[in-house]
Amino acid sequence: MTTPQPSTRPPQAAPGEPLLCAEGLHTHFELRQWGFVRVGSVRAVEGVDLTLGAGEAVAVVGESGCGKSSLARTLLGLHRPTGGTVRFDGTPLNGLSGRALKRYRARVGYVQQDPYGALPPFMDIQRILAEPLIIHGVRGRAERERRIDTALAEVGLTPAADTRRKFPHQLSGGQQQRVVIARALLLRPAMIIADEPVSMLDASVRVEILELLRRVQREHRLALLYITHDLSTVRHYVDRALVMYGGRIVEQAPVTDLLARSGHPYTEALLSALGDPDADNARRQREVPGGEPPSLVHPPSGCRFHPRCPHAMQGKCEVEPPPPDFRPRADHRVACWLHE
Ligand code: SF4
Repeated sequence: MTTPQPSTRPPQAAPGEPLLCAEGLHTHFELRQWGFVRVGSVRAVEGVDLTLGAGEAVAVVGESGCGKSSLARTLLGLHRPTGGTVRFDGTPLNGLSGRALKRYRARVGYVQQDPYGALPPFMDIQRILAEPLIIHGVRGRAERERRIDTALAEVGLTPAADTRRKFPHQLSGGQQQRVVIARALLLRPAMIIADEPVSMLDASVRVEILELLRRVQREHRLALLYITHDLSTVRHYVDRALVMYGGRIVEQAPVTDLLARSGHPYTEALLSALGDPDADNARRQREVPGGEPPSLVHPPSGCRFHPRCPHAMQGKCEVEPPPPDFRPRADHRVACWLHE
């Protein structure tokens, strides 16, 4: 008996329609002493609203420890949300398990931060790339090899036959990340989540990998969620950017608008640190406010940025959290009382 091969990508939202939609998403992790006494919780994601259209590339930007990787892993189904909802192509993800979760994961490619850690060192590339195809029911060695060769060619690792025989340690960091991207494409996903995909690579190959991600995203009309701490890498590679601070989204806008006319003091601080060439002089000369990113166990009251904010209003900012949707422009949302 022959098993039908999944030869086309499953139906998905039309271009521009929301493919992924998170509302009021919370992900908390319990802190326990001696393994059983609950002593608090890490509020990694707090009330995040996020939409990602089919074929749209969106960046989530923020410092280390702001909750962006926890957000990515929650959207991948690797962490269970403690509140809120996530829908993918109209289907709620909360509580998915077993086959339904497996089907969802086949539709979402994952590109990790550390390519070497993501590739089992004792397997050659042929086996590494065949494994997800076997798990997801792509039968027939010839079909699997055809898909592997196509994916390797797409990421520029040709001749594919040479690459298939190699082990991860025989590839450079950039080549390893290309293999990770090829693996993410193998099951013809509708969305890719890339969590700091270039932060562990040499500066010389970062642009190549970002350009590769953008190219495959456009060619396959994929939704791309790009997680990064580096605001300087978003300009050419995404359509929209969200800025995350202390577990919350504090600003979101089309990327050109966000970079040229940011509305949140934290985004301005990130831009100042970059010396962004498109920012005006006054903004460039401002210094990044001092202090550390906030604790996610005991976050500041009110606006979480208030201890570092040069514009904090006494009696207001440390008391009331600003709502996330002040709108300086129709498609630009800012969580800051300055825009009340
Ligand atoms: Fe600064 Fe207040 Fe705006 Fe927060 S709400 S960013 S403290 S001005």
